Amino acid sequence: MKRGTIPLCKIGVRFNEKNFEYDVYSLVKEFYPGTDVQICYGQEKGEEFTQEISVCYWENSIQIEYQDKGQSKDREEIALDCAWDRKTTKDKLKQAVYCLLKRQTGKSQPWGTLTGIRPTKLVMGMLESGMSNSEIAQFMREEYYVSPQKTALSVTIANREREILKDIDYENGYSLYIGIPFCPSICLYCSFSSYPYKQWEKRAGEYVQALKREIWAVAGMMKNRKLDTVYMGGGTPTTLPPEYLDEVLTCIEEAFPCESLHEYTVEAGRPDSLTREKLEAVRRHPVSRISVNPQTMNDKTLEVIGRRHTVRETIDAFKLARDCGFDNINMDLIVGLPGEGKEEVAHTLEEIQKLSPDSLTVHSLAVKRAARLNMFREQYQEMTFENNQEIMDMTAWCAYEMGMGPYYLYRQKNMAGNFENVGYAKVDKAGIYNILIMEEKQPIIALGAGGSTKLVFDHGRRIERVENVKDVANYIERIDEMIERKRIGITTYL
Ligand code: SF4
Repeated sequence: MKRGTIPLCKIGVRFNEKNFEYDVYSLVKEFYPGTDVQICYGQEKGEEFTQEISVCYWENSIQIEYQDKGQSKDREEIALDCAWDRKTTKDKLKQAVYCLLKRQTGKSQPWGTLTGIRPTKLVMGMLESGMSNSEIAQFMREEYYVSPQKTALSVTIANREREILKDIDYENGYSLYIGIPFCPSICLYCSFSSYPYKQWEKRAGEYVQALKREIWAVAGMMKNRKLDTVYMGGGTPTTLPPEYLDEVLTCIEEAFPCESLHEYTVEAGRPDSLTREKLEAVRRHPVSRISVNPQTMNDKTLEVIGRRHTVRETIDAFKLARDCGFDNINMDLIVGLPGEGKEEVAHTLEEIQKLSPDSLTVHSLAVKRAARLNMFREQYQEMTFENNQEIMDMTAWCAYEMGMGPYYLYRQKNMAGNFENVGYAKVDKAGIYNILIMEEKQPIIALGAGGSTKLVFDHGRRIERVENVKDVANYIERIDEMIERKRIGITTYL
């Protein structure tokens, strides 16, 4: 078998009724990453499965059975308690499925039965309900089977998040996201809505005008609320020429009260998008934080992943940003990139340490369906996609050595090795917006093509989304409709 080739396995998860399918499916996917898992119902004949897990709901019990081609059989049964609510039933079902899969695979999962992307949100909820750190830790281990290491990490982060968010007004405040969907080139692993700038150069001015209309409209809709943070992302906003960048930043400043912002971030992610002129344009506005993202400090990998810039350019861009006066610079890293193992990551960390950024965000490569890396996966079969706990620990250790502590965390679907993304920051340098988007504490109004607005209301208990179209031409042409969608959402829910 070729290195990296996945054996042909197909797992069927069969239900006798529609109930908690996605929860069971997600858990099965965690135990069998890269395997085709399909949900089916009743006696419906699906494809040939190598393994089948059936979940049958009866009046007083739930039976879970496992069977594979080798005729191995296993089962779990839960006696239902009429005092259980839906969440408790779901948690018990996941426990049973977890135990069964653990026996079958001989593996345990670092995050236990938790399959969602926001484990710290759960911990935060427990903290807010008055539970002590040790009670939470015990609960995480006993109810969700989370490993001691991940339990400690999530409890530490939730406490720090709580401290960082203490001055944020959940009820009357909100945050703003501004999307600039252009990049110098498209990275191989990209799953965002971003387009090569060259392709849209002629219409970039029209995009800026449409965005400015949305900015003014939203400023009017939100005038009775307090703006806490602004995040300009995309894409890479600094892909825009300096005059457009300045025009958008000026518009934000004119339309919104920016004097009492807790944070104002501009993504300057791609080093090949940066010039002194652009950085100086950003500095003329109340931007407090930028991000210059190496992803890796190995030229060979940069070429493979289509970043079209060199390590030298990253170093120069970072130094230029410091020279322009930025005192809060984040750097993003990805571990698990094609062809990279321990040695390559060690080299990247060494180079980053020399630059000493103020925060470091470590992503574990997630191969989402839309990314070209997944579309052309055949091409990369010869390459290893390595990530392991030792590598994750190396990144954590590097952050600690630079005087940083973890402050936010999230997980992604299809993540190499089932790890998580962790943000580390020095004291007072944490990205507040990053926490807000994970903890879903207040509304985030997203402007620009691909913007996904989250309206958090009813004291944080409910969330409604309002989406903008992703396509740039569509966004320009349908800007009035985008504004109207927001107006309806905001007046209905906030
Ligand atoms: S820099 Fe980010 S947004 Fe731009 S193409 Fe690369 S991954 Fe996508």
